[in-house]
Amino acid sequence: MRKLLLSSVLIFVGPALLWPQAKLSTHWEELTAADFRSAIQKSQGTCLLPFGILEKHGPHLPLGTDLLDVRYATLQAADQEYAVVFPDYYFGQIFEAKHEPGTIAYSTHVQRELLQETTDEMARNGCKKVLIVNGHGGNEYLLPFFAQTQMEGPHDYVVYVLGSVETPPGGPAKKTKIDMHAGESETSKMLISRPDLVHMDRAATESGADLARQKLTESVYTGIWWYARFPNHYSGEGAAATNELGQFEMNGWIDGIVKAIRAVKADDQSLKLQNEFHEKSKHPLDTRP
Ligand SMILES: [Zn+2]
Repeated sequence: MRKLLLSSVLIFVGPALLWPQAKLSTHWEELTAADFRSAIQKSQGTCLLPFGILEKHGPHLPLGTDLLDVRYATLQAADQEYAVVFPDYYFGQIFEAKHEPGTIAYSTHVQRELLQETTDEMARNGCKKVLIVNGHGGNEYLLPFFAQTQMEGPHDYVVYVLGSVETPPGGPAKKTKIDMHAGESETSKMLISRPDLVHMDRAATESGADLARQKLTESVYTGIWWYARFPNHYSGEGAAATNELGQFEMNGWIDGIVKAIRAVKADDQSLKLQNEFHEKSKHPLDTRP
């Protein structure tokens, strides 16, 4: 009886059952041209640009740690709230690690121009809302600056920047105080995204202590501050990492990205205001309060 039913279902449904339509991928590079059109519709023109870097991560983590982690979190978030995710992007600000092997530090104008052309090209393909998800601390000034430069002239799309997402309260207590790069938190997150690339046995072979070699007041900034404090490009103790902390922090990050995607999708003001602003900026003397 079962066999009979199944065969009649097969005849009735035909090829649709034999070749079920695959779920739309969130990965830009995995979509066909026709599926890309459907993906842009499904995402309501919302596209994500996870932004990593190639730089040393202590003695125990891979050069692509920031890229691998930000892509892991972003792709998980896009599975919960559909959006098209741009391929690997790691062309950011990392001059402070040029003295370490494996760092790729593009010049300033290339960073800006490539990012502008990338978002322009995304928008030309229907991504009218581009959410840059930052995974690298060295981009924390570059990205707000990039967003600000979008005001220089009109665009038919909006650039949104999601900086570091604060870990929600609760969760496993942290064991270390200094934890800025390849330390307890970052190593814990890699234990979730790519545990096979974490060399825990090497985590204590270099020091990630703060050498505090500059004597300045807090409000004075210099580019050499990081090297002054952490010349090994390592800040903290990777050996303190745990799976539990990694899962908690990764979940908090993913939730933060999901919230950001939803907020960006719901935003019907930014493009309207951008257009209004640029229209007024053509004839400022006519602008009245
Ligand atoms: Zn990192």
